[in-house]
Amino acid sequence: MSEKIIDGKAIAEKVREEVRLGVAQMQQEHNYVPGLATVLVGEDTASATYVRSKQRTCEQLGIRSLGYHLPADTTQEALEQLVAELNANPEVDGILVQLPLPKHLNEEAVLNKIDLAKDVDGFHPVNIGRLAMKGRDPLFIPCTPAGCMRLLEETGVNLKGAEAVVLGRSNIVGLPMAMLLQKADATVTICHSRTKDLKAHLQRADVLIAAVGRTEMVTGDMLKPGVVVIDVGINQKDDPTAKRGYRLVGDVDFESAKEVAGAITPVPGGVGPMTIAMLMANTLRAAEIGLSKK
Ligand code: NDP
Repeated sequence: MSEKIIDGKAIAEKVREEVRLGVAQMQQEHNYVPGLATVLVGEDTASATYVRSKQRTCEQLGIRSLGYHLPADTTQEALEQLVAELNANPEVDGILVQLPLPKHLNEEAVLNKIDLAKDVDGFHPVNIGRLAMKGRDPLFIPCTPAGCMRLLEETGVNLKGAEAVVLGRSNIVGLPMAMLLQKADATVTICHSRTKDLKAHLQRADVLIAAVGRTEMVTGDMLKPGVVVIDVGINQKDDPTAKRGYRLVGDVDFESAKEVAGAITPVPGGVGPMTIAMLMANTLRAAEIGLSKK
């Protein structure tokens, strides 16, 4: 792989290996195995695939995986009751409620109920609040932004004083990403659907995090030479030559951007593999926090 291409698969494997070692050490020293509870509501195929993949990774790393699958018509009360039980269960270190939830459920209310010390997705408002505040640290950082930060770190990017553009401002990616970058002393610009002149912002960016969900919307001619590009987007692009009739591409047009960028993540094989790896790292951390209280 060219030095320019940031190898998310290899870096994710490095993170998984760190977790595997941490879990083995915990078992040896404390006779304790971390546990992750996954909560899936309904039959959404993509969500079921993500949950299976998280459970499989747990097994590979020696983490105990407890799967809960509730029917699509589950009530708010039943879901919150399950979260309360998992909060109280000493065998559960991390709780992951797979999003999005069916429309009739109040996502925010459910996330608010997760014990802060088990919030391995990092979506609890207190964790996000701590991320935003100077001098405070969250217990857990949301997995995808944490993965992006690790990719930047492994690439050797100096963020101090760097101009960083975060494209997208969602609660799960763009917003926490921007907060992490400013905590790392970058000068951060957040761009979104109402941004008037995206290219003008991009031309100043030393670092670009693209998290929009728009097929290849950023092209090489929009970028500053040498920029480090982390492409979070996962989009389906029609491709009659592909088995499924489409292939996955990012929010950045890889071919034109790689000619200009100093370093760039591919899609797939960039940010994607990092998200689950960071979830595993957060679960190990949750178990460490749990043990420190016992
Ligand atoms: P959301 O749909 O929640 O947010 C998209 C953001 O992009 C919004 O802030 C929106 O702005 C902004 N946006 C939309 N259109 C434009 C536009 N034309 N110009 C500028 N900004 C625009 O998406 P997510 O943050 O959940 O996900 C973003 C992408 O990342 C998706 O492709 C998703 O599949 C992928 N993803 C990948 C993960 C991984 O593990 N690799 C994990 C999570 C997500 P506004 O706020 O104004 O509406």
